Amino acid sequence: MNTYKIAVIPGDGIGLEVVPAAIDVLNKIAEIDGSFRFEWTYFPWGCDYYLEHGVMMPEDGIETLKKYDQIFLGAVGMPELVPDHISLWGLLIKIRREMKQSINVRPAKLLAGLESPLKNPQNFDITVVRENSEGEYSDSGGRIHSGSDEIAIQNAVFTRKGTERAMRYAFELAKNSKGHVTSATKSNGLTYSMPFWDEVFETVKVDYPEIKTVSNHIDALAAYMVMKPQELDVIVASNLFGDILTDLGGAIMGSIGIAPAANLNIEREYPSMFEPVHGSAPDIAGKGIANPIGQIWTGKMMLDFLGNHEAGSRLLNAIEKTLASGIKTGDIGGTSTLSEVKEAIIKNLI
Ligand code: ATP
Ligand code: MG
Repeated sequence: MNTYKIAVIPGDGIGLEVVPAAIDVLNKIAEIDGSFRFEWTYFPWGCDYYLEHGVMMPEDGIETLKKYDQIFLGAVGMPELVPDHISLWGLLIKIRREMKQSINVRPAKLLAGLESPLKNPQNFDITVVRENSEGEYSDSGGRIHSGSDEIAIQNAVFTRKGTERAMRYAFELAKNSKGHVTSATKSNGLTYSMPFWDEVFETVKVDYPEIKTVSNHIDALAAYMVMKPQELDVIVASNLFGDILTDLGGAIMGSIGIAPAANLNIEREYPSMFEPVHGSAPDIAGKGIANPIGQIWTGKMMLDFLGNHEAGSRLLNAIEKTLASGIKTGDIGGTSTLSEVKEAIIKNLI
């Protein structure tokens, strides 16, 4: 029997509610599967910890986390008491960077029983692979001159290694998906970074002759996601483009409370971190009404990354069955509580 040692950081707000719910579901699926078990270790890091200790996590926090197989995170943020840049950089971004989680994966799919703002998004089922560590989000640049002559310069930094890593990961995913990779580019406007991006894409795709490929400019691709989402499968995108496309994907799914995400260290040198797309949602925290599906689906991504695909599919089926039966939280038009949704998913696992 495999034992997975997972570091759990529920964080703040609804993270404290959805994480324990997801853990109940994951424990149940381990019990049903019988080939693995979880060993969860809780770390009470986040904004409350900051208010008490002046830091979001202890000095040796990263070293501590390195002892675990994976990290399961809820959400961090308490904007009324702790500025966002402190909560973000003091924990989330720190972990992503120090653990070299350079790939961000966000699937978006219209689940049974959900309503999309799109009229007819049949077969909407995509995965965005976003380069998570470089590109447009660099700290290279500056400001020169002043007054009406002032100029701000922001450099984008694309390494061949980082670009290729994201692309190869996208191709590997497409092998087990619909066999199609779309590259998000903008080489008609960005004259150095994106032609380079395209060049790397051309080189990498040679190794995957069985995968169909297309390169779309990001503006056109955003429109395709709305107009003909059924034609898309895996999308590989830079940090900025991926950021935008994944929010759009989340919106098409119907609620941010559903959307899962993973920050992967694909070399498996350090743990990866699984955290839903949504934040700590202080407006609904503590009321027992948050949608736990984003966190639970994030748990499915962790199962997949650990190689337990059968358990992962079973979990997604149970989520869909629950939604189709009308058991939903308020954000997706239902009246059920968080624990009612959790209980229904557990029941539907069997
Ligand atoms: P962050 O800065 O961490 O991304 P945010 O403040 O931008 O956070 P969220 O905390 O995700 O965004 O909240 C945005 C809105 O979505 C809020 O109105 C919140 O109540 C709602 N929301 C977020 N997650 C959920 C959820 N799991 N269930 C129901 N509603 C949610
Ligand atoms: Mg925010």
